[in-house]
Amino acid sequence: MATTTQEEQTQTKPHILIVPYPAQGHMLPLLDFTHQLSLQNLTITILTTPKNLPLLSHLLSLSPSIQTLILPFPSHPSIPPNIENTKNLPSSLFIPMTHVLSLLYSPLFHWFKSTPNPPNFIISDFFLGWTQHLAEQLSIPRIVFSPSGAFTLSTLYSLWTSMPKNPNPDNPRPHSFPNIPDSPTFPWNHLSTLFRSFKEGDPVSHSIRDGFLGNIESWGLVLNSFDSLESRYLQHLKDELGHVRVWAVGPLTAAGSTRADKADDRLIRWLDTCQDEEGSVVYVCFGSQVELTRQQLEAVGTGLERSGTRFVWCVRDTSAVPDEEFEKRVRGRGLVIRGWAPQVELLSHRAVGSFLTHCGWNSVLEAVGSGVVMLTWPFGADQFVGARLMREAGVAVRVCEGSDSVPDPDELGRILAESVGTSEVSRERRKRAVELREKALMAVKEGGSSFRDLQGFVKALWEVHEEKLKINKDVERDREMNGGSYF
Ligand code: UDP
Repeated sequence: MATTTQEEQTQTKPHILIVPYPAQGHMLPLLDFTHQLSLQNLTITILTTPKNLPLLSHLLSLSPSIQTLILPFPSHPSIPPNIENTKNLPSSLFIPMTHVLSLLYSPLFHWFKSTPNPPNFIISDFFLGWTQHLAEQLSIPRIVFSPSGAFTLSTLYSLWTSMPKNPNPDNPRPHSFPNIPDSPTFPWNHLSTLFRSFKEGDPVSHSIRDGFLGNIESWGLVLNSFDSLESRYLQHLKDELGHVRVWAVGPLTAAGSTRADKADDRLIRWLDTCQDEEGSVVYVCFGSQVELTRQQLEAVGTGLERSGTRFVWCVRDTSAVPDEEFEKRVRGRGLVIRGWAPQVELLSHRAVGSFLTHCGWNSVLEAVGSGVVMLTWPFGADQFVGARLMREAGVAVRVCEGSDSVPDPDELGRILAESVGTSEVSRERRKRAVELREKALMAVKEGGSSFRDLQGFVKALWEVHEEKLKINKDVERDREMNGGSYF
């Protein structure tokens, strides 16, 4: 009996299956969004594979009502055994990873068919476009979760539908997007890395394209962005998709982060001592995937030394650079973190004033939410778009571009020092960054655009759900009136 009551309860409210893509920059914002949803009156199940389960533990402790569905990671010769997350993969295997995850289609379909109260919505990352086909087969709506902003998504949707070719690989032509507001043009090698890797006739490439086309067909779209940052591009997406089921709910870390990482006392104590001058520390981190070459690391180290500024530099724990001698030379004014930095917490510390970043969209939004100036060095993926948007907003300065470039250490040192300096230009830039932070915080506050979009999204789920319940009831009533049979 107890089970029946529980089942009846779950059926009365929308039940969502969340499907994250196993990369930090994709999972972290979707887990933040899942947390926001768990505060609404919804039933939530999150799909994971065994080795990614620990990444959910903090979210599950915050929101114990979330259920987990654990499916084995699909085995495939292109992914080494026991690897289930891109953080353990060289970048050359990202594309196969995206493809391999589509092998979850069949086990997921069977789970839906055999579970007593299956979800009636799927929310999944934009690298999992195959879930749209699954949702179609199950006759339920699928919502795309975009960890990138609306400008990036506009370029991606345009590329994957129009499939422009690069006629001369040795001298690539810039590519224009005449339909996107202001008709932006990007050098060919600044376009999406995934798109540029497309090979005609290659099944993996075609499955990735098919996934993006699935995204475009999906019922709805949720983005980690906010209206006053990207209103033109959000409107463009609505126009292109031909519907208004596009919701911008970010910045998600500003709405309430689910990060478990905490800065150690030594770091916070040191930052506290830097508060004599607010915003005097530069934070340096290139996200969770970018691997700097030795030459690039040396240039960053030399730039930081020559800048004379205070800094926190996060490098991978396997990096040979910087060495102990470097740490001795900068003692007192610079700290090196090896491995994972508690980035959201660091950026929001009053002592941090600027951020040397690769412009991954999460890093961009976290900087925006903290009111720090960005020093941009995009490497690939969506980072060139984010960097451009931030420069256009007047809160960022170009440092370097591309995975093959090495910044001039003197020039880098000058930019780093200027970013936290007292010149009129830098003070003006910092003022704009603070203004942008205010807009970001307003968006997620009660009554703000992202707050309203979250409410609107939940309301739309309820409307679909109630409509379905009504149809089911009508069918049931007709069946009873016909003596339990339609015939
Ligand atoms: N991140 C972090 N500590 C690190 C490196 C990364 O907390 O040492 C987080 C960062 O806050 C961001 C995410 O990892 O939320 C990286 O996503 P982003 O889109 O910036 O870049 P990606 O790693 O996807 O290139």
